[in-house]
Amino acid sequence: MIGVGVLKGMAVTLRQFVGTYPAGRVLLKALHLPEGNGIFTISYPETKQQHAERFRYFPFLVYDATPDNLRCVACRICEQECPPQCIHITMAKDEQNRPLKANGRTFPAQFDIDVSICMSCRICVDVCPFEAIEMDNRHEIATHARGPELLFDKTELLRSAEYFQQIKPTEAAVVNQRLVAKAAKSQPPKPAAASTPPAA
Ligand code: SF4
Ligand code: SF4
Repeated sequence: MIGVGVLKGMAVTLRQFVGTYPAGRVLLKALHLPEGNGIFTISYPETKQQHAERFRYFPFLVYDATPDNLRCVACRICEQECPPQCIHITMAKDEQNRPLKANGRTFPAQFDIDVSICMSCRICVDVCPFEAIEMDNRHEIATHARGPELLFDKTELLRSAEYFQQIKPTEAAVVNQRLVAKAAKSQPPKPAAASTPPAA
């Protein structure tokens, strides 16, 4: 229903506010509601806040085992679907304009995302058929300049599958299940067992 998400979010904010005060915590307990941490102040940047797993800021490119094992095949679907058009991809090709392959897959020669334009919508993640792009919760990326510093290239975007597992364990588990299912589907069917010849 429209607006339910907004009301739920406001309820969380209200609960945190009420839970700031001793009387409020008593009230929450009486209503069998979680107390939470209440509203608090941290001494940033000396102290960093622990982000919720669902927190997201900026995409990163996932690789398996080593950075040579990029999951991205440079299909450019994310580039086309990104609403503010802040992804720029070029597929790696040889002199005859034929796609190059690494580990059996095509790969991007160039993969840039403009930090100053990205709106953290996560659409690139949702449309990627290869689980190759995910959302990071790293957010301290502000600079004093408005130039190439805000254009993150392939090298800056690379993160390992272990890193993804570390920052978003629940989501990574779902992604891993999908990858396992996909790998099982792509296996050639096992040959049927040889039939026993009829007895003479
Ligand atoms: S991140 Fe995914 S959708 Fe984007 S180019 Fe790579 S494989 Fe395609
Ligand atoms: S999060 Fe949204 S805006 Fe940012 S790169 Fe992905 S699709 Fe584009």
